[in-house]
Amino acid sequence: MFVGHAAVALAARKKARSVSLGWLVAAAFGLDLLWPVFLLVGLERVSIVPGITAASPLRFDYYPWSHSLLMTLAWSLVAYGLARWRGVSRGTSGLLGALVLSHWVLDVIVHRPDLPLWPGASPLVGLGLWNSVAWSLIVEGVLFAAGIFLYVRATRPADRTGVFAYWSWILVMTAMWLPGPFSPPPPSARAVAWVSLGMWLLPFWAAWADRHRTPREPATASSAPAGAEALSPAPTPDR
Ligand SMILES: [Zn+2]
Repeated sequence: MFVGHAAVALAARKKARSVSLGWLVAAAFGLDLLWPVFLLVGLERVSIVPGITAASPLRFDYYPWSHSLLMTLAWSLVAYGLARWRGVSRGTSGLLGALVLSHWVLDVIVHRPDLPLWPGASPLVGLGLWNSVAWSLIVEGVLFAAGIFLYVRATRPADRTGVFAYWSWILVMTAMWLPGPFSPPPPSARAVAWVSLGMWLLPFWAAWADRHRTPREPATASSAPAGAEALSPAPTPDR
């Protein structure tokens, strides 16, 4: 799952007014941000086996520290604790924790049974949506489109950067996701780890876009056409 994680972060923006989209994206992608780091330090392992699933050539040999259910619950608590420590409200902190947990749930849908429940000798789970390229693209595409729509309905651009930064982020996400099943397999597991480190850019890019957008007021939310990307006529709040 790739853009599906972005979808839940985008959808959460309306409920999480006090934190940037950057933090929501960091939480939703959290496990995948840890994963390349754990690969590079030798804590986890992946190999490239073309055809192992139709949509992805990655065989996730060992990744209990980033992707077991038990550790996901722990990372989710860490996210909650960090947010509370930074003065974020209980509700929004809980939402950040839930976003971390959502990653595992979405991964279960697409992965073959390779997700452990806990580190050590654990059963492996996964429903294997990646066995079908068409279904993978449909399910993730619908989730992503819903997330894009909900975010646009919850915020409006405060200036031109609010339009450009947001839509370029969506475009880059799409370019990172859509060609995947049709591309040649990556040259090595190490290359996968290094390229995956690039995902660390996504929260910062999202935060940049989010800084140039403002929540749509409840009153104007009904009068403004949903999804309209016209520049806001309202004065830009000083941020
Ligand atoms: Zn993942």
